[in-house]
Amino acid sequence: MKRYIFVAGGVMSGIGKGVSTASIGKILKGKGFEVTAVKIDPYVNVDAGTMNPVEHGEVFVTKDGSECDQDIGNYERFLGKEFTKKNYITTGKVYKHVIEKERNLEYDGKCVEVVPDIPNETIRRIKEAAKKDKADFTLIEIGGTIGEYQNLLFLEAARMMKLKNPNRVLFILVSYLPTPKTIGEMKTKPTQNASRRLNEAGIQPDIILGRAEAPLDKPRREKISNFCNIDKEFVISAPDVKSIYTIPVNFQKENLGEKILKKFGIEKRKKDLSDWRKMLERREGRKGTVKIGIVGKYFETGNFTLTDSYISVIEALRHASWSLKTNIEIDWIFAEDYEKNREKVAEIKNYDGIIVPGGFGSRGVKGKIKTIKYCREKKIPFLGLCLGMQLSVIEFARNVVGLKNANSTEFNESCQEPVIDLMEEQKRLVKESAFGGTMRLGNYICKLNKKTASYKLYKETKIKERHRHRYELNNDYEKELKKSGLVLAGINPESDLTEIIELKDHPFFIGTQFHPEFKSGPLKPHPLFKGFLKAAKEH
Ligand code: GLN
Repeated sequence: MKRYIFVAGGVMSGIGKGVSTASIGKILKGKGFEVTAVKIDPYVNVDAGTMNPVEHGEVFVTKDGSECDQDIGNYERFLGKEFTKKNYITTGKVYKHVIEKERNLEYDGKCVEVVPDIPNETIRRIKEAAKKDKADFTLIEIGGTIGEYQNLLFLEAARMMKLKNPNRVLFILVSYLPTPKTIGEMKTKPTQNASRRLNEAGIQPDIILGRAEAPLDKPRREKISNFCNIDKEFVISAPDVKSIYTIPVNFQKENLGEKILKKFGIEKRKKDLSDWRKMLERREGRKGTVKIGIVGKYFETGNFTLTDSYISVIEALRHASWSLKTNIEIDWIFAEDYEKNREKVAEIKNYDGIIVPGGFGSRGVKGKIKTIKYCREKKIPFLGLCLGMQLSVIEFARNVVGLKNANSTEFNESCQEPVIDLMEEQKRLVKESAFGGTMRLGNYICKLNKKTASYKLYKETKIKERHRHRYELNNDYEKELKKSGLVLAGINPESDLTEIIELKDHPFFIGTQFHPEFKSGPLKPHPLFKGFLKAAKEH
């Protein structure tokens, strides 16, 4: 029998709804159930691929090449599963499908209406994901915040599912309890209001997760219980934590898993979170600190610095650090700072390792290339991800091969030495402005040369990694680059495209055309991140 758990958020965004959803999934999986998760994003974009990461955080890529919300990354890391485009729903996808169906006369001449046709299409998609993943439990996270206009139709879908199958649908409200400094007391009113707004949509929460700075005390639990119309035992305390990975275990301190099963009328199950607890133990006893700099540009929002744009890179570093028993300190380096101030790049010597992650467009490129040159010459461990790999090829071509005008056609369409360029098919797509969902996306095979550092880390010759890019190392320059010492460590056998570059005589200098960060998990740190951090530790 298939069961569905909807997770909605109250009061404000950014309170950890995605991680809460993933943690609930992990708990149920620990009890031996098949679990899947679906994210619904209320925006009109068909997918996250056309958005600047500053708008909505990292664009996570699934194995089948779906460009989606970063929460899918949380689900994969917590559930140890790979998801697909079926696990991601947006307003854009739902409307697009309904309109196409209408144009194809598939509604048999009926009037197609926002309600019920939009919720119905949403329900169809939720069930499709549950079926694909053979899930006993499907967790559905409704993006946005309760009370917003744009997620109403998704709440309507949830309400309709509950009406049809009351015993198979559960609602969890993840809500925030602020403790304003001037008052010094934790307030429940915003959560009461969120719960009421949910009632207005015809939904009564079954469980409330109270997110707050500190644990919920008795009076707070009582108030939420009274005003939000739920039994006290279903008010769960979810205080801030140092590491998101402790959340499943924290929830279990209040027997959340058992309480969910009780709500569904399922008997208790013994199986637990032993693999997860062991992982948490492995994190203990870390010694020393490795200092890593990430050179990027998607950090700023008004007066604040955002790190959400690089979330998978940060998590991959964390996973690797535990297996090396070391602490890490991550610094954000604004690429453009090194363009304005030439001397500033010498700051790089303060780091044990540098990462240049993915990116688009020419802003910040000069600063990144300067950083890469510094890392190459001063032998500072370097990992280049996608754009980071392309820029290390440009730097090498300019300063080692001597092709002073080497560049990518992404930054200068008519450059003389296009060492990074578009493939023919991509040229056509760009010409037609067909940008959405048309990059080289998702899994591609890479064959590794046995004599390389990358092979030593992966310990296999055939790997599969996830991609998201339009531009490639131009094979016309392959010979010259190789002759000057650039190692092309991995190639896609079908297209002959270069997937990994390396430098010899360097403690660690690897650039990947793919994004290894998407495949790292707390239970399976990624070999490249492990190798990079090991070199940084030894630095
Ligand atoms: N902008 C580059 C490309 O499209 C790199 C993309 C990325 O870093 N993900 O090829």
